[in-house]
Amino acid sequence: MNGSAVWHPFTQHALEPAMPAIARTEGAWLQTNDGTRILDAISSWWVVTHGHRHPKIMDAIRNATETLDQVIFAGLTHEPAEQLASALVDIAPAGLDWVFYSDSGSTSVEVALKMALGYFRNIGAPRSRIVVMEHGYHGDTIGAMSVGARGVFNAAYEPLLFDVDTIPFPAAGREQETLDAFETVTRDGQAAALIVEPLVLGAGGMLMYPARVLAELKRIAERSGTLFIADEVMTGWGRTGTLFACEQAGISPDILCTSKGLTGGAIPLAATLATDAIFRAHYSTDRAKTFFHSSSYTANPIACAAALANIDIWHEEPVAERVAALSRMQSEKVARFSEDPRFENVRATGTIAALELRVGNAGYLAEVGPRLRAFFLGRGLLVRPLGNVIYVLPPYCVTSDELDRLYEAIDEAGASGSR
Ligand code: PLP
Repeated sequence: MNGSAVWHPFTQHALEPAMPAIARTEGAWLQTNDGTRILDAISSWWVVTHGHRHPKIMDAIRNATETLDQVIFAGLTHEPAEQLASALVDIAPAGLDWVFYSDSGSTSVEVALKMALGYFRNIGAPRSRIVVMEHGYHGDTIGAMSVGARGVFNAAYEPLLFDVDTIPFPAAGREQETLDAFETVTRDGQAAALIVEPLVLGAGGMLMYPARVLAELKRIAERSGTLFIADEVMTGWGRTGTLFACEQAGISPDILCTSKGLTGGAIPLAATLATDAIFRAHYSTDRAKTFFHSSSYTANPIACAAALANIDIWHEEPVAERVAALSRMQSEKVARFSEDPRFENVRATGTIAALELRVGNAGYLAEVGPRLRAFFLGRGLLVRPLGNVIYVLPPYCVTSDELDRLYEAIDEAGASGSR
């Protein structure tokens, strides 16, 4: 046990007794205590966008600590939260006029679900059924797990999870089945909300689907009065090629969840954005209609300052160009495996590329997963395959040469290293 008292997330300690300690981060790189450099090819679980320790974000955090630390956010407000809310409303899809803060992707999802149910209760037409997409992932709290795929991750907690209606993943050529299933479950006008990861299902295996399906789902939701919740926790802040993935479908959700890249990945913060109709449903002299949700660190001023610096970077630096260049590099570099019999389902959306190693035993617990991870780490590359799905989701500052190194290692893994 190495004398450590730390219980790590998603870690089987019996199989992973020791792990490298990171002493320093910079750009696309991590550096261990003994000076080994590791390329962060997964943006430290998809949070880091511009690169580790972007100077403007670090400065904003330092400066914020000169005047503020946590301040209770019920009954009080502060400048960083106010400025951030209006900046978010400005850059988010149109119609999302209200910003509710929390601290993680999972809590932003819990807030979204509670807003949806609160909305229907407060307008006097209660609905409580939630529709989800097969293979979806929305976090690890009980509500977020309930609306996510069931499997080994949550088997132990299954008795606590609430029932949902699941529509199939819109696999290529089978998109109509997804739309038909959604039509069917919303026909009785009783579904409160659909929650989806737009364009890319992350933890479910970097599964990608086209924007036109998203647009159709929104249309069906509108027809049946079902609220549309876009979980942009992973897809937001440029990952799929646009600031938010919903933009590619030309849609505005009723509720949008954002976290991870909200602060450029520097410090925890989340926001759930909602339409005026949802806010109005909670706006009343009747206290029972209050939106009853909070967490102690809601709207932490230091985190809000980091998020404001992130938005400044989007405005002041050529981030969109960087995202476009990375997207091009990713699709070009991963394409070399398209006809390679060792791999299948080679794909890319925006800055995210993924491919699957052909193995007998696929799925999250596939034997090959941990072996691949160790193989890449041995080459100074942080890659965390989802079973046999290898994906590359780097910070936007990664260079073409660094990506080449990564794709060379993937080639090598296909040849031998993983077996
Ligand atoms: N939603 C999506 C789409 C995610 O990818 C994640 C995390 O990976 C979450 C929610 C949960 O976020 P967090 O781990 O910050 O609770």
